[in-house]
Amino acid sequence: MYDYLIVGSGLFGAVFAHEAKKAGRSVLVIERRENVGGNIYCEEMEGINVHKYGAHIFHTSYKDVWEYVNQFVEFNNYVNSPVANYKGELYNLPFNMNTFAKLWGIVTPDEAAAKIAEQRTAIKGEPQNLEEQAISLVGTDIYTKLIKGYTEKQWGRSCTELPAFIIKRLPVRYTFDNNYFNDRYQGIPVGGYNKLIDALLDGIEVRTGVDYNECRAEYEGMAKKVVYTGPVDAYFDYKLGQLEYRGLRFETERLEEVNHQGVAVMNYTEREVPYTRVIEHKHFEFGTQPVTYVTKEYPADWQPGEEAYYPVNNERNQNLYQQYAELAAKEEKVIFGGRLAEYKYYDMDDVIKSALACAGRELQ
Ligand code: FAD
Ligand code: UDP
Repeated sequence: MYDYLIVGSGLFGAVFAHEAKKAGRSVLVIERRENVGGNIYCEEMEGINVHKYGAHIFHTSYKDVWEYVNQFVEFNNYVNSPVANYKGELYNLPFNMNTFAKLWGIVTPDEAAAKIAEQRTAIKGEPQNLEEQAISLVGTDIYTKLIKGYTEKQWGRSCTELPAFIIKRLPVRYTFDNNYFNDRYQGIPVGGYNKLIDALLDGIEVRTGVDYNECRAEYEGMAKKVVYTGPVDAYFDYKLGQLEYRGLRFETERLEEVNHQGVAVMNYTEREVPYTRVIEHKHFEFGTQPVTYVTKEYPADWQPGEEAYYPVNNERNQNLYQQYAELAAKEEKVIFGGRLAEYKYYDMDDVIKSALACAGRELQ
């Protein structure tokens, strides 16, 4: 009998598995997909690591997490600086002096602040939704050109029906700084994300192509405890109802070009273009290959059984999740962790932090 059966080989499962093995416990990892790594998995194409489940940029302010991942891989010095394309007009992201100067022809931070202050008067009192939050942060011009269309296609609903916190992920700066993140540490693993997962899972027994919820009987009794990182509602066979997710569809093309768009991430912020971003993967690793791979990312309605990409954190889903969390707390032999089991819009560093904390509690 194993000490732990780990369901899912994404970052949560892989970090927990690594820590458990290090602590002398026996572990078995099972994974529904044919490949390990969850959403950070990449496929190498002609020397270019193609991010199969969406572009991933590692960024963190947790020193311990940064040191942890650096034990396994070296990180390059990539800094994410996406460009927004609104009907062919290009703007730097996140919202900073370069964006403001291009949009309004202003020069100083004071002039930018005055423009935003003038446009912000449209909102009275505490912002109640994403639209109000966005206008109060950056004014109506940026909201209209760079936020509204992108957000509504990304989430498939109006900005007035979305929570304010989603837009607070993006920095707003009165300096000429195009770094998309405020975090202290940032980069892409040299040689790609698979190296990180492979190092974490080194020496650990992994079975791919196995869906725990479909063959639970077979695995029941195989381990003293289960670490479950799949969707929490699926674990309980949706008995309280289904949590909603936002889906994605990726269209990848090989182009006989050295440099297609000059940047790893270009956001298409108008509503009429059906995709949200175009990723040119080679730029994450400063690739010089004679060809390039680009991926269009299309937001999609999600149906049960499809890959679940983003939790939809509205009131209905949060309430339902709370009820599932109560059921989960009663499962004494099962630990629920990660983005799907906790129904949380977690970044990679938060997942690692949470897996390490969980391992720390569990493996004393
Ligand atoms: P996952 O990676 O989803 O792993 C869960 C694993 O469990 C999957 O492999 C799944 O197949 C498996 N599984 C599920 N159910 C079962 C089952 N029943 N049986 C067996 N296996 C099962 N974070 C960042 O920090 N920076 C970024 O730039 C970034 N970009 C992102 C872009 C996109 C499009 C998305 C969707 C997410 C992004 N993230 C980013 C978040 C990042 O992907 C997650 O924080 C992290 O990968 C989550 O790890 P996890 O182990 O919790 O979940
Ligand atoms: N967003 C936007 N315009 C952009 C980029 C982002 O309006 O050009 C908004 C959008 O609502 C998105 C949120 O900011 O959901 C968070 O963006 P982030 O890049 O953090 O999203 P992720 O990479 O997690 O998809």
